[in-house]
Amino acid sequence: MKKMTLALAAALLMVSCGKAPQKDLASHVIVIGLDGWGTWCMEKGEAPFIKSMMEEGSWTLNKRTMRPSISGTNWAAMMNGTPVEFSGITGNENHPTFTPILLTEHNAQPTFFHVMRQVRPEAETGVVCEWGDFLNYADTLCLSYYKRIEDPEAHPDAIVEESVKYIKEKKPAIAFIHIDALDHMGHAYGQGSAEYYAELPLVDDRVRRIVEGVKEAGIYEDSIIILTSDHGHYGTGHGGDTDLEITTPLVVFGKGVRKNHQITEPVIQMDIAATVAQV
Ligand SMILES: [Zn+2]
Repeated sequence: MKKMTLALAAALLMVSCGKAPQKDLASHVIVIGLDGWGTWCMEKGEAPFIKSMMEEGSWTLNKRTMRPSISGTNWAAMMNGTPVEFSGITGNENHPTFTPILLTEHNAQPTFFHVMRQVRPEAETGVVCEWGDFLNYADTLCLSYYKRIEDPEAHPDAIVEESVKYIKEKKPAIAFIHIDALDHMGHAYGQGSAEYYAELPLVDDRVRRIVEGVKEAGIYEDSIIILTSDHGHYGTGHGGDTDLEITTPLVVFGKGVRKNHQITEPVIQMDIAATVAQV
């Protein structure tokens, strides 16, 4: 994991772009975010595909969520690469609570999508998400495509179908896919509940089918896939400072990524932005 802020990563990418072409690590980055996927469920939980991804790649179960352990703060940090003190995104509101330090020409938080637009304006970038508010943090003016799945509880396969369709048709340079089901179970039944554990293999299978889609698109050999989460749960909520809420997994695998490697360096949510930008 590269240790730098997104602003620094952006500066480095732009500098390297201005001077000599930088060799990409991979042509495609697919980020799959599982809302409310806490590390606590991985010891007893049934997630055969995710566990096989760990063997195929590099992983940590000790990634730190940003405080507060709320969705908006964390999805934003993953994409903009800055702490809440920079971004002002202290919760799920559709606007920062205080003035952000960094703003783009669109008056939005700079994200890795914005970096890509600047470095490679023609690149295909997209978001498919189940939580509509995700788009508040995704810098939509810098996206080629975005889609929100309506009523995902009634249509649990739609996220897979829409994501795979998009990946096959457009072969995006960066795609971010957000799956909400585990968070629903956490809020409805609580951390450690049988219902949450029952949902985990279903979500695991959705991840498997999305990765299959990357293979069917013919880009798997030239892709890096990042699987991670915004926060865990404590009881039926989150937002607090318990280990159950702030400890989340990160799995990275694909082209050039070390296999069966446990990341022992400290990793925090905003590191993901710099990692995507670096690829
Ligand atoms: Zn969440």
